[in-house]
Amino acid sequence: MVGSGVPSDPLAPFLDRFVDIEPDLLYLDGNSLGRLPKATVERLRTVVEEEWGRGLVRSWEAWIDAPVRVGDLVGSIIGAAAGQVLCCDSTTVNLYKLVHAALDAFGPRPLVVSPDEFPTDRYVLEGVAAARGVPLVPEATGPSIVVRSHVDYRTGELAVVEPSEHVVIWDLSHSAGSVPVHLDEWGVRLAVGCTYKHLLGGPGAPAYLYVRSDLQEDLRSPIRGWFGRRDQFRMGAGYEPAAGVDRFLAGTPSILGLAAVEEGVRLVAEAGVDRIRAKGMALTSRLVELADEHLRPLGFEVASPRDPERRGAHVSLRHADALPISRALVEQAQVVPDFRPPDLLRIGLSPLTTRFEDVDEAVRRIAELVARGGHVGIDVSGRVT
Ligand SMILES: *Cc1c(COP(=O)(O)O)cnc(C)c1O
Repeated sequence: MVGSGVPSDPLAPFLDRFVDIEPDLLYLDGNSLGRLPKATVERLRTVVEEEWGRGLVRSWEAWIDAPVRVGDLVGSIIGAAAGQVLCCDSTTVNLYKLVHAALDAFGPRPLVVSPDEFPTDRYVLEGVAAARGVPLVPEATGPSIVVRSHVDYRTGELAVVEPSEHVVIWDLSHSAGSVPVHLDEWGVRLAVGCTYKHLLGGPGAPAYLYVRSDLQEDLRSPIRGWFGRRDQFRMGAGYEPAAGVDRFLAGTPSILGLAAVEEGVRLVAEAGVDRIRAKGMALTSRLVELADEHLRPLGFEVASPRDPERRGAHVSLRHADALPISRALVEQAQVVPDFRPPDLLRIGLSPLTTRFEDVDEAVRRIAELVARGGHVGIDVSGRVT
């Protein structure tokens, strides 16, 4: 469909590193759940059969450092030197910990979150604001604690990280592993993110948090768990935080989850974020170009930034019937995108698993389905994703 043909793709061999899906399936939702690396299957088999099955409690010797070790590996993807990233809990819980800790360390101040922000971020801030008696506002008017996504989950818009008078907690869920992130270089103080999107950690894999090293001494987790205590196994009276970022651990970490994150992030590191970013921009540009040509006449409009530098690795197409279209694509066309209310068809183009031909074929199938009215009369009740 594109006159220029298919560009050369140095990342093409990486597709082979993932477990196969049906040959005809176009999986365009890797920004919601990344595909399964073959190495993860092997690793989990070893952890389950050898380490858990035979090693049993003795394996804690090797497991105990996993949140810090895997955190450092995630750090290598997001530009954080060792000792500042911890892999644990969910993004939601990590955000809760950091917002409370920031309020304690920097003093009471308004919390800021946009009404367009990812729901869990808004809900957590509503709860913390109510518990701590500080205002929650959509825009900062004075020194505040701001929570903001680096890549917007709906439009894919990429934020510019600049020095700020505010304490900004960046949510990297949609950016880590898809666009370059340089936390140390950018002077970021605090960040959180999940690992099951572009970092390939699997459903419910542990998320991560980043606390810049010079702030660690002053920030304390509101959850006083035994894994975050200094000299944990002395089982002493009272809680004292551990010295480093591991003070943000709460309870026993998910060892199976951490092993899966380690394999996923290794694969991303091997491919290299710069190459992933270059292909991501080329894939999204191809989609935007084809959407203008073939989907605009069918009522679609590109809702993502048109400049590839200003967007992440997904493109959202606005259409009044986006919900029935997304469902019909799954049921009738072997295309898996997702829908984001009220009217966005979100198309994730994970650079490690999406081929340029897949973009052409997806546009062809979307156009074909909508032109023949395949989405008309589709039951849209009870849809989960
Ligand atoms: C996916 C995502 C999350 C996920 O939160 P969990 O608690 O790990 O489920 C949070 N924030 C943003 C911006 C996301 O895109």
